Amino acid sequence: MLQVNDLHVTVEGKEILKGLSLTINAGEVHAIMGPNGAGKSTLSAVIAGKDGYEVTQGSITFEGQDVLEMEIEERAQAGMLLGFQYPVEIPGVKNIYLLKSALNAIRQARGEGEMPASEFMKLVKEKLGFMKMDPSFLQRAVNEGFSGGEKKRNEILQMLVLEPKLAMLDEIDSGLDIDAMKVVADGVNSLRGQDRSILLVTHYQRLLDYIVPDKVHVLVNGRIVKTGDAELAKELEANGYEALIGESAA
Ligand code: ADP
Ligand code: MG
Ligand code: MG
Repeated sequence: MLQVNDLHVTVEGKEILKGLSLTINAGEVHAIMGPNGAGKSTLSAVIAGKDGYEVTQGSITFEGQDVLEMEIEERAQAGMLLGFQYPVEIPGVKNIYLLKSALNAIRQARGEGEMPASEFMKLVKEKLGFMKMDPSFLQRAVNEGFSGGEKKRNEILQMLVLEPKLAMLDEIDSGLDIDAMKVVADGVNSLRGQDRSILLVTHYQRLLDYIVPDKVHVLVNGRIVKTGDAELAKELEANGYEALIGESAA
């Protein structure tokens, strides 16, 4: 589904990703772990097409398409969606309106018409219930005055409504209490499926007790220095990144 090959990325003249390769097959959940500043957020931002990143070498393909040739909207419409690490507030835009226009943009790109209003409301209410969110959230401006945990739930709500083929989630566990983390993890797990893949960026192993990944990659200094299964995350929790940082510098 997603193939990243020898990716080199520069931000403001500084090389951040230094030859990163990664393949995610349909149906797989991959976790990216690593110390602060390793380039984790940069990786998902570049795949999603955010501004400010210069790819100097390497390639990214998604279902055989050259991702680097696609605009940010085209990537979202093709089914690659990035949640917000620090979800932005959009004053004056109601949450429900954002969901509806994003969904219809994706449907339009697929040659489907707008979803009928009644069907849309039914879908949103079902997902809202799943995320244990109050319907009043739909009428509020996007993320305005939302608590940290509410923003994270809202981010997963967007994913559940839009059903991307590749969902990229950056630190969805930061700042969540244990109950909220379980709700968020349940939401992510409900996205799992044969034809859907998830790229999960996380600092801590704890989230991976609830969302068990197929593969764990350790990103240090712009490169993947180790890949393993869910057990690797537990080793990292016990031993930290220090040993791997040493190896990457050698
Ligand atoms: P991680 O998510 O692993 O903590 P990031 O991908 O956010 O790391 O950042 C990797 C490095 O790139 C850091 O040194 C960071 O300061 C730098 N960086 C990221 N974005 C920018 C930017 N917009 N301008 C300047 N430096 C940036
Ligand atoms: Mg290289
Ligand atoms: Mg980050």
